Amino acid sequence: MAVEEGAEARRAELARRLSDVRARIAAACADAGRDADEVTLIAVTKTYPASDARHLVDLGVHDLGENKDQEAAPKAAELAASDAPVRWHFIGQLQRNKAKSVARYADLVHSVDSVALAAALDRAATRHRDRPLDVLVQVSLDGDLERGGAAVGADVPERELERVVAAVVESEALRLRGVMTVAPLAWDPRSAFDRLAAIAADVRREHPEATIVSAGMSADLEPAIAAGATHVRIGAALLGKRPPLR
Ligand SMILES: *Cc1c(COP(=O)(O)O)cnc(C)c1O
Repeated sequence: MAVEEGAEARRAELARRLSDVRARIAAACADAGRDADEVTLIAVTKTYPASDARHLVDLGVHDLGENKDQEAAPKAAELAASDAPVRWHFIGQLQRNKAKSVARYADLVHSVDSVALAAALDRAATRHRDRPLDVLVQVSLDGDLERGGAAVGADVPERELERVVAAVVESEALRLRGVMTVAPLAWDPRSAFDRLAAIAADVRREHPEATIVSAGMSADLEPAIAAGATHVRIGAALLGKRPPLR
């Protein structure tokens, strides 16, 4: 049947791309003198159908990332119905009015970047989950807050990152697990990820449980791993080029 053949071909393509990405991760780990199992691959399935997410789960990827609640919530429901073992990573900018929905299915929210969002997620997690919600604080390295992230750096009068970290630590139902960034377009990725690593070490000194460093995408996973990333978020290299956003 044509549909089945299409599904078979897609699965084969995803298997090929997955083995290429795993090889890149293994090579980057070898170059950095790290074990490949120190790095968790998150497949970013945004804009791709739930059927692709299913193929990836069948191929052994259990960490899936999404950046919009409208898309993530139905996909998470669809995969939950099939009992696929999945950890959902919410990686996009999050509006406070979506906190309740995200708290229901997310296993790790990477993009907590304000005290107000931490408070909204805490309330949502208290009411709509039976266990704490793990979160990362997203760091804006260049202070371009349009792209998300809490600001750091000498020219920021109040170090926003510290306030967000404190809000998470003092919350009822959130658990601080580490930090995340998207490398600024204008920066050399290696210096961006080295800077994130230094920030992660600072946070970990006070909060030893904050061991996750989420950094690296399709184009820059190697420098991220060289700088110590524990989680890489890979979309295009695994699933193909996304259709342009309209
Ligand atoms: C889309 C996205 C990714 C994946 O990017 P690719 O270039 O497709 O690998 C990673 N992180 C965030 C925050 C994203 O929005």
